[in-house]
Amino acid sequence: GARAQVEEGSGQTEREERQEGRIVVFVRLRPISKKEKEAGSRSCVRIVNRKEVYLTEFASENDYLRLKRVRGRHFCFDAAFPDSTGQEEVYATTTAALVERVLQGQNGTVFCYGATGAGKTYTMLGTTDNPGVMVLAIKDLFVKIRQRSLDGAHSVSLSYLEVYNETVRDLLSPGRPLVLREDKQGIVAAGLTQYRAFSTDEVMRLLQQGNQNRTTEPTRVNETSSRSHAILQVVAEYKVEDPATNSILTRVGKLSLIDLAGSERALATDQRSLRSIEGANINRSLLALSSCINALVEGKKHIPYRNSKLTQLLKDSLGGACNTVMIANVSPSNLVFGDTQNTLHWADRAKEIKTKPSNINEEAIKIPETESDQSKLVLQLQKEN
Ligand code: ADP
Ligand code: MG
Repeated sequence: GARAQVEEGSGQTEREERQEGRIVVFVRLRPISKKEKEAGSRSCVRIVNRKEVYLTEFASENDYLRLKRVRGRHFCFDAAFPDSTGQEEVYATTTAALVERVLQGQNGTVFCYGATGAGKTYTMLGTTDNPGVMVLAIKDLFVKIRQRSLDGAHSVSLSYLEVYNETVRDLLSPGRPLVLREDKQGIVAAGLTQYRAFSTDEVMRLLQQGNQNRTTEPTRVNETSSRSHAILQVVAEYKVEDPATNSILTRVGKLSLIDLAGSERALATDQRSLRSIEGANINRSLLALSSCINALVEGKKHIPYRNSKLTQLLKDSLGGACNTVMIANVSPSNLVFGDTQNTLHWADRAKEIKTKPSNINEEAIKIPETESDQSKLVLQLQKEN
């Protein structure tokens, strides 16, 4: 009896630590593509079990041709998804718990990291038939917030922005670049559209439209530039009654869902001149991200958030009072072995980042004692919504 209880207790602590103390890191392997198959590629990534990934290292092209497996490396994550994993399962394992925390008035961030073509946009946005984490999270938020809010007093608002070439743009209302400002909520993009959303279908259309507004290469106008970061911010606000203190609480939580630019090294791209400048800037954002990760892992006092627009926007997600999830996307193909190794390296490193316990964004209004005061409050609440 007593012993079982102790074990149960320590299990709980471990779970809480996993969720609250640090960035939670997942790896998703995508299916091999037709193009990769046709190019004769072989798989160099294996999901060993629910947590473990094995990367086969081919020492040279010759080793690969002779299918000589030189050595390999095991990585361990909070969960590893094989290529057969569906969108719902990825959402449920990686993000559903964060949505719950957002409804408790905390902040949460999910970002997808990986090389171009590794499956970041598929994981985040998905397709109309197979919606991804962004859409499934908002769907879940809608259901839960409707159940929980007092008298239907709630709002879910969205903003969708891009960081490209160190320039921030509004994807819901394209136009001039936005300026980042620091206010009491942290770093915000001034003038960013806050779109009040009412249904999941509408959200999918809105995000697909937003994605169309992402920057493309002049030569590949139908493809989003691999150097574009897309950030969806969802703010959920609702009112709950707190019987313990006899007050009405306004809870506000923010969920940031981020489809990062391709993490492949600039050297691996075929771009020149003008575009190498853009490449340098993308590197700046991702390099800044990796230096912030390093500084956070090493427990440094100064974290260089100011080095890029991306890290400024991610400041309260990486070091602040936030619940942060990283999804590392990888292709199975040995032809992009270097990219996969790089992605797994950073994912492994990100596990070491400690986050602070979260604040709760909650504001209480005392429930008045008299009936007439109560009706005044109801009127006030109705006006606010
Ligand atoms: P990224 O955004 O990282 O550049 P994409 O998400 O666009 O990569 O994925 C590249 C291609 O692979 C797309 O055609 C996408 O539909 C497909 N794909 C990616 N992940 C999966 C998956 N888990 N299941 C099926 N198809 C996928
Ligand atoms: Mg993409």
